[in-house]
This record gives sequence, structure tokens and C-alpha cells, in this order.
Amino acid sequence: MGRTLEPITALVESLDFNWFDFSIDSFVRFVAHRQRRAVLLFPWAFDAAITAAWVRGQKHDFIFVRQSAPPVLQTHGILHELGHLLLGHRGISMDDSDIAEVLQLLAIRKSSVTDGLEEQQAEDFAQLVSLCIRQARRHHREGPGTTIDALRPVAESGF
Ligand SMILES: [Zn+2]
Repeated sequence: MGRTLEPITALVESLDFNWFDFSIDSFVRFVAHRQRRAVLLFPWAFDAAITAAWVRGQKHDFIFVRQSAPPVLQTHGILHELGHLLLGHRGISMDDSDIAEVLQLLAIRKSSVTDGLEEQQAEDFAQLVSLCIRQARRHHREGPGTTIDALRPVAESGF
């Protein structure tokens, strides 16, 4: 099966989030509420190869973000990891106690995994959400006329 945006578009649509009011903190809270699991964000001293990483803990989900990354990149990285989470990808699980060890392993693994369907889907999710935010802000400035259906062709050709 080839790559398709259909499940990603359906997911983003099903969120029914008010993109105009998007902030990364409010969206993280929204996702946590939807999943009924806390999502905790932490800055982390990753090297430049990694922007963000998601770790599934026993009780919470953890998203670590490279603290030296520019804010725009941090937001994109968090959206990418939330994509994995919302799409039910397996990710990396851990015992809440040995987080530093897990992150070290993760850094090694992540730098070697740059493609694959799940990576593509998470990236598509991040891109589509960014598009929804831009559209919502433009819509707000220019008046009604854009629905998520209208976004589809842009998304298909844009990335
Ligand atoms: Zn990923």
C-alpha cells in the first residue's frame, strides 16, 4: 500500500480543534484530554540531530524537546510526536524511572530511523496541522470560505 493522506486528514478533521486559537500548550492539553492520559513536555539537551521525542510511560506520555531548537522547530517537533501518539503508533515504552537511559537509546535509534510509514505519517500530521493553523488565521483575516475539504488538494501537492 502506498502512502496516503486519507487517515491523517480524517484524524485531523475528527479532532475538531479550533485552529485559530492554536497554541502548542493548549493543543497538548487538548490531546491529553482526548487520550485521557497526561502528556508532559520537557526540554532536553538533545544534539542537533533530534528535535523531539515521544516516550510512552506507564501512566503518562512524555515528549522531550531539544531546548536549543528555535521555537518554530520545537512546535513542529511536538506536533510530529503528537501525531505518533494520536495515530496509535507503538513508540517507545518505558518504566518511568530510567528516563535518561531510555532517551540515550532513543537518540541512537532515532538518528538511524529517518523514514518508514510511521515517520511519514507523523510528519504528514505535523504538516497538515500547520496548514490548518495557517488557513484558520488567513480565514480569520479574510472571512469564510475554507474548509478542511478545500485543504486536501493543497496538502496532496504541497508535501
Ligand atoms: Zn517520528
